Amino acid sequence: MNAPAPLFPALTERSSRPALQFGDRTLSYADLAASAGSLAEALRTERRVAVWATPSLETAVGVVAALLAGVPAVPLNPRTGGRELAHIVADSAPSRVLAAAGDELPAVLDGLPRTNIDAEAGPAGAPPAEPGPEHPALIVYTSGTTGPPKGAVLPRRALTSTLDALQDAWKWDAADVLVHALPLFHVHGLILGILGPLRRGGSVRHLGRFSTEGVTRELRTGATMLFGVPTMYHRIAEALSTGAGDAALAEALSGARLLVSGSAALPARDHGRIAAATGRAVIERYGMTETLMNTSVRADGEPRAGTVGVPLRGVELRLVDETGVPVGPGPDLVGEIQVRGPNLFSEYLNRPEATAEAFTEDGWFRTGDMAIRDGDGYVRIVGRKATDLIKSGGYKIGAGEIENALMEYPGVRDVAVTGEPDADLGERIVAWIVPADPEHRPQLTELADHVAAQLAPHKRPRAVRYLSELPRNDLGKIMKRALGV
Ligand code: ATP
Ligand code: MG
Repeated sequence: MNAPAPLFPALTERSSRPALQFGDRTLSYADLAASAGSLAEALRTERRVAVWATPSLETAVGVVAALLAGVPAVPLNPRTGGRELAHIVADSAPSRVLAAAGDELPAVLDGLPRTNIDAEAGPAGAPPAEPGPEHPALIVYTSGTTGPPKGAVLPRRALTSTLDALQDAWKWDAADVLVHALPLFHVHGLILGILGPLRRGGSVRHLGRFSTEGVTRELRTGATMLFGVPTMYHRIAEALSTGAGDAALAEALSGARLLVSGSAALPARDHGRIAAATGRAVIERYGMTETLMNTSVRADGEPRAGTVGVPLRGVELRLVDETGVPVGPGPDLVGEIQVRGPNLFSEYLNRPEATAEAFTEDGWFRTGDMAIRDGDGYVRIVGRKATDLIKSGGYKIGAGEIENALMEYPGVRDVAVTGEPDADLGERIVAWIVPADPEHRPQLTELADHVAAQLAPHKRPRAVRYLSELPRNDLGKIMKRALGV
């Protein structure tokens, strides 16, 4: 039998081309082969390693080393509070923790042996043979938006198939230089943002912290792509449309090859403002920790605002109604997205019942996301079944389109829409509004009239609540649990 192909072909070539850049520190492919290779040698006998995933070269080296050694790695969010971190550490039971020298680890990790990651370590011997496609590569915890985070066990073929399908959709190659400002413990920042460029033989420049100045600087000096979450594109849209508008940023974005948004829905208003100022459409893609990437607008396809594009190569996607019957394309035909393909996880760690419940009898994964599909297969996400689908007055209403409509209303800085029990309607629509100016809050009647005119009368909010900020997690996702859903 042939040995499995390497995850990172460019690493075996050990070239002097840049692979990873964090601030003023850069590692070439040869440097990375040396540092990750020597750490991999030391890890071979480990059962499972945790990686203290600060946004640093060390985190990238630690994860690559674990992948080379064939030891499943669990990235840990250094910003999670005590209880959640304790849950993840107890659940994943790593045999060792990897961290940058000098990083202080919280007490829950005290009992574990620690290895400091040396990003500048010297040359390593020949790398060990890579494990087979079903071997667990990473255990990534879901974002915890709808409940306690669950550990998704991701085999190597899930990583390779998703990254190669993105190459196909985005024409992603070794010449691409990615601007990165996301955390490194979720799929978006780690698998797409770090492992993606390394698999292509391209490079990544991490900003540490997101800033529009950093994006401008990198895109002006050779970077070709930007991956971001909607909160980043919101800040970009604000910078482009405040006062005279940031002309340098607009010019830098116009010259980029690809601007990609994901992890949550990109508000139509921000998409429109960026397109108006730069002439560029931000591409949306849709994925989950459990499935990696499912759909994307293609680089060579027609961009359609408000859609997450079409299924990626190798991914089967269908929409089903509540009885499990497939729903056809059509503007009012909302169904749950189910997917099948080599991009899927193998199981939830330690949760056989949750794993079993997540799949249909014929092997489709139930995403819990609701969507509609048009005749050309473009998918438009309406929201999550658990938190974004409001059943009011006999209608099923998606929170997302109401949120989009309210975002357009003057004086609204941010908005979330939820349903709450109502004696007459079953559920009534509630708008949680962050006013741009707390002294001049938009009132319920004007908001309701706006939604009724833009969408339909039954979609108008029946109550409004004001907040100074929405509860969001570190990817900018709105935690509707905290709004009583
Ligand atoms: P948990 O599963 O713990 O509740 P989570 O679902 O937020 O948390 P992730 O796996 O990080 O954890 O996120 C996947 C979800 O993010 C998807 O199911 C979908 O609801 C949402 N999502 C991802 N990309 C998009 C997108 N482009 N548009 C709308 N929603 C998106
Ligand atoms: Mg989820």
